[in-house]
Amino acid sequence: MKFTDKIFSFLFPHKCTFCREVISYKNNTFICTRCMESLPFIEGAVCAKCASPRQEGSMPICNICRKFAHPYSGSFTPLLYDGKARKALINLKFNNKENFSRSFAFLIADNIIRKGFPNIDFITYVPLSPDSLKERGFNQSQLIAEKCGEILNIPVTDTLSRINGTPQQATLSHQERRKNAKKAFFAQNKKLSGNALLIDDIYTTGSTMSRCASLLLKMGCSKVYIASVALRGKN
Ligand SMILES: [Zn+2]
Ligand SMILES: [Zn+2]
Repeated sequence: MKFTDKIFSFLFPHKCTFCREVISYKNNTFICTRCMESLPFIEGAVCAKCASPRQEGSMPICNICRKFAHPYSGSFTPLLYDGKARKALINLKFNNKENFSRSFAFLIADNIIRKGFPNIDFITYVPLSPDSLKERGFNQSQLIAEKCGEILNIPVTDTLSRINGTPQQATLSHQERRKNAKKAFFAQNKKLSGNALLIDDIYTTGSTMSRCASLLLKMGCSKVYIASVALRGKN
């Protein structure tokens, strides 16, 4: 290690995204071995569309995905929105963005590789409205998408927009979310082709992903896969 690197790591030590303990940086990630072994990973049988856990031997697609005919072709979501994962996702908004987005992207990329890595031509992300972007200063889904692109060597493209003044999805019921998503998101004036990977930070009912995926399909994509860091238990 160069002397200047030593000084730098002494002044700004790498911390684990999930427990904040000082660690050495390796494998594109800031996740300590203990957290890697104890994160709330989604394991066992999952819905073939949204990746939510399902009973072994039950239908391959969950009730919600069947009821709402979600237009995406598959999901890569490594964690449940619980414990350390929930805390880290809340902290992303206030902490070291580089550290958090890289670790979250690493977990998504790892999930994609484990599930057989389908053909993905480009990565895109769920947008924020111009007002929210100004207020927060960054779009966490975009940061995660950009790191995922670096790790998987896939280009990242801005494709969708969100209008100002629509309520945050988290404050609404499932029914209201679907209506709100329809009003909130729209396609940019671009023609697309090939398979897209659409990234959001948290997956709840699928209303946002569903709306954004159908816009991408209308813009010309052949298939849309979705990925988020964690699945929040409503589905
Ligand atoms: Zn840790
Ligand atoms: Zn499902």
